[in-house]
Amino acid sequence: MLNIILMGPPGAGKGTHATWIERDYQIPHISTGDMFREAMASGSELGNKIKEIVNRGDLVSDELTCALVKERLSKPDCAKGYLLDGFPRTIPQAEAWEKISKEIGREVNLVINIACPDAELIKRISTRRVCPNCGASYNVVSMKPKKEGICDLCGHALIQRKDDNEESLKVRLANYYKSTAPLLDFYKSRNLLHDFDGMLGAEKLKVELNKLLAKSK
Ligand SMILES: [Zn+2]
Repeated sequence: MLNIILMGPPGAGKGTHATWIERDYQIPHISTGDMFREAMASGSELGNKIKEIVNRGDLVSDELTCALVKERLSKPDCAKGYLLDGFPRTIPQAEAWEKISKEIGREVNLVINIACPDAELIKRISTRRVCPNCGASYNVVSMKPKKEGICDLCGHALIQRKDDNEESLKVRLANYYKSTAPLLDFYKSRNLLHDFDGMLGAEKLKVELNKLLAKSK
């Protein structure tokens, strides 16, 4: 069983690696943003509750977020494990998830952290293009689409996200490091943390990640 938490600053390559891990190890990439959107659209009891809170402009509590993750893990595609992205985000969430995952026998066994220097992230983000239709991510320098400006997967025109610029990235990075530093310590103290170098490049990093995943399967 691979019960994984994926961490790393925006632009470190989480999306790229989540895509092949999901395919090769048959575990779903669960991004909490997507999970919230899906739950709200599903009309489930929990989904409606969340919709109400979000529409009110309030924050969804840690308890409710954990309940939603738990519900998501009961689906058959999670039989071999899960790859969580964007959760836990805080120490209280990590503590709550530790308790609940233990109760349901789905404790986290790997925390993958892809680290990358700010200067490199800033360089990458300004050349990033995304598909607004299917979410695929490209880079006009290092990961060009086959046809310029067009998504390889679905044929939609690619866009540059409005917040993919140096100023907003710096703000996002500062927030990211502030909230995740304690989390990294939390998982390190439990011997779950595995640090990877985002500067290795996608191919080499994939080889390194594969070594860890194959051995932990
Ligand atoms: Zn697409």
